[in-house]
Amino acid sequence: MPIPTMDTSPLRIFALNPKLTDNEKHLITRACEFAQKAHQGQLRKSGEPYYNHVFATGLNLAELHMDAETISAGVMHDVLEDTPVTEEEMRAEFGDTIVSLVQGVTKLGTLRYSGTERHVESLRKFFVAMADDIRVVVIKLCDRLHNIQTLQYVDPEKQKRIALETLEIHARLADRLGMGRLKAQLEDYAFPYVYPEEYKKTVELFDSFRPISDEQLERVVGKLKDELSIFDVQIERIDSRVKHLYSLWQKLRRNKMDESRIYDVVALRIIVPTIGDCYQAVGVIHGLYRPLPGRFKDYIAVPKPNGYRSLHTTIFTGDGTTLEIQIRTKEMHQEAEYGIASHLSYKEVGKNVSKDVIEKKTGWTKDLLEWQKDVEQHKEFLTNLKSDFFQNRVFIFTPHGDVIDLPEGSTPIDFAYAVHSDIGNHTAGAKINGKLASLDTKLQNRDIVEIDVRDTAEPKRKWLDMARTTLAKRKIRQHIREHGGFLDKFLTR
Ligand code: MN
Repeated sequence: MPIPTMDTSPLRIFALNPKLTDNEKHLITRACEFAQKAHQGQLRKSGEPYYNHVFATGLNLAELHMDAETISAGVMHDVLEDTPVTEEEMRAEFGDTIVSLVQGVTKLGTLRYSGTERHVESLRKFFVAMADDIRVVVIKLCDRLHNIQTLQYVDPEKQKRIALETLEIHARLADRLGMGRLKAQLEDYAFPYVYPEEYKKTVELFDSFRPISDEQLERVVGKLKDELSIFDVQIERIDSRVKHLYSLWQKLRRNKMDESRIYDVVALRIIVPTIGDCYQAVGVIHGLYRPLPGRFKDYIAVPKPNGYRSLHTTIFTGDGTTLEIQIRTKEMHQEAEYGIASHLSYKEVGKNVSKDVIEKKTGWTKDLLEWQKDVEQHKEFLTNLKSDFFQNRVFIFTPHGDVIDLPEGSTPIDFAYAVHSDIGNHTAGAKINGKLASLDTKLQNRDIVEIDVRDTAEPKRKWLDMARTTLAKRKIRQHIREHGGFLDKFLTR
């Protein structure tokens, strides 16, 4: 395969986000230079400079109209993990916020995936990062998008795993965050690696099955434009969208591969100024064409769980075919395409997007049931998530990148017992984020905790005061009862 080339001028980033100020452009340029220098000499599997990958991540972020800090962090997202540059060096040049974004992405980078039991762990990591600064997740998704776009260069035995992970974690998360366009891209790039046969079938079907010709479509658009202008509905934009392959396949599967039951392979999208115009437009359309019964959907009054809003209707075009029409305002369109990113595009929101807003925008507390179907074996996690995810839990990392969630106020002792009771029972000391710490230190969200285990160490009575979880307390008591000295045995009776 020839080595791909890429124009890595920051001007390409600026062109995608016209709102950037001169200062912001300067920041991004510095980040580009910093990353380029740091990755100097490193190559991707494809043979191209490593920098191309991180630059592409920055481009993906710019396309989502993310702020300059996020784009800069995106361009530098692999610097701390893959180059000798230190955190302090980056901090001196770019400050705390950008460093913490890059660190967040680096932490998510330790994510490993091998089927369902890992699945939920991985999702948790995303949540952990999100609870802190949701921009970390957006960077990670843009990083993944470029990785999946260049998957052909990766060893074949790894391709399927990466693609499956993309479908089951990244695309679902993008969906959850309402980022429709990114979700569709992630899915369509991953699809052929995960389900090659089904992919082929879907492509064939898609090519052979043309529900509506371009001429028919143009005729409808012409008539709609005339009629809507008569009724004074201003059209900001009208275009057609083709259903993306992976979502077409899923729909085919749900409908037992019967393509005649799929009405929205091609759909017309009409963007109008106000919500009032949306309803007016649908009235005009239904006056002009007969609607298919049962196909009108008001996602404005009742948005989809991920926040999607629009009016959908399917009409008989009068020349033997049907066509779905989607009507929405520009704001709704932005939200449907970019989701949470459309709320993060401006600095003033950025890091301080309140959890309220995120929760409202993603609506996931309402919609956990849907997920539950997919991860039934992890009901306990979901229940925890539902009841007290944000408020009362801290998420602690092992040095290997596994996540242990504990109640707030937990200490290294709780952590040790949560990992394994043998580790708890032989805890001699602890390191938090690489530094020695006493066993009664209260753990903070995202701490990395390493337990020093020694054969000779054993639980002490005073640990009972340090432990917060019932699990740890129970194990400590049990151990003291079974192995404790005379006095301990006496006291526990
Ligand atoms: Mn990367």
